[in-house]
Amino acid sequence: MASDMIGEAPASPGTLVSAVTVVAPGTPGARLVILGKQGAGKGTQAVRLSRHYVVPHIATGDTFRAAIRSGSEFGILAKRYLDAGELVPDEVVIGVVKERLTHPDASHRGFVLDGFPRTVGQAEALETILEPLNLDLVISLEVPTAAVLTRLASRRVCSSCGANYSVPDNPPKVPGICDVCGGDVVQRDDDTEAAIRRRLELYERETAPLVSWYSQRSLLATIDGTGPLDEVTDRIVTEIDRRKLGAV
Ligand code: ADP
Ligand code: ZN
Repeated sequence: MASDMIGEAPASPGTLVSAVTVVAPGTPGARLVILGKQGAGKGTQAVRLSRHYVVPHIATGDTFRAAIRSGSEFGILAKRYLDAGELVPDEVVIGVVKERLTHPDASHRGFVLDGFPRTVGQAEALETILEPLNLDLVISLEVPTAAVLTRLASRRVCSSCGANYSVPDNPPKVPGICDVCGGDVVQRDDDTEAAIRRRLELYERETAPLVSWYSQRSLLATIDGTGPLDEVTDRIVTEIDRRKLGAV
């Protein structure tokens, strides 16, 4: 699925890091978390960052939606939470992420975590999972609530691979058809008014405290998430590269 896809292989031969991915020598990896309220554009930016640094995009929401599509027992359990806009219990999400981070692509090169951590409990668990390593950076993508409400109304998602689109800013090339996999591009089941209100409420209560939690650990970069997608990506990459070069 797209959330597990890493960037296209570059033209020049390189180092094999997984069965399917070739990375040009010298391409730095990264261990990143992207925070932002619903509709802040974190999924779109996370995909771009995963291509740039050639690391897997690990999106817990996509993982749950894939489980729901598969009809597994786990998917049936997850659907109750997602449709209501409620958080899946910490121990469930932590187990899923912990397992995914042991795969060689993530353990060798890093990752972009999107939608995790979402509570202080999850952030503490992530710290333990990564030990003795640490995150490189946590990006908080800041967009005013009025703007995210508009974006959520225009958000569309691929029902097969989870790729994100928005109409009319970033539509699929062929209307209704995913550029990545050819699947149907639809509105998400939890992009209803009630579920959106609940998710934004939970973001403020459970996830916003992570901004100061990571700031206290000198891991936070606050990025303006408004404006054209390419500009937002440039702002994020500039900040990551500046920090990784040890300039701060
Ligand atoms: P959004 O950020 O727009 O709410 P996501 O795709 O990140 O969308 O998440 C969709 C849903 O998946 C959440 O509302 C929640 O039910 C569940 N979920 C995803 N990540 C987590 C997490 N880290 N902890 C708890 N629940 C999660
Ligand atoms: Zn798709």
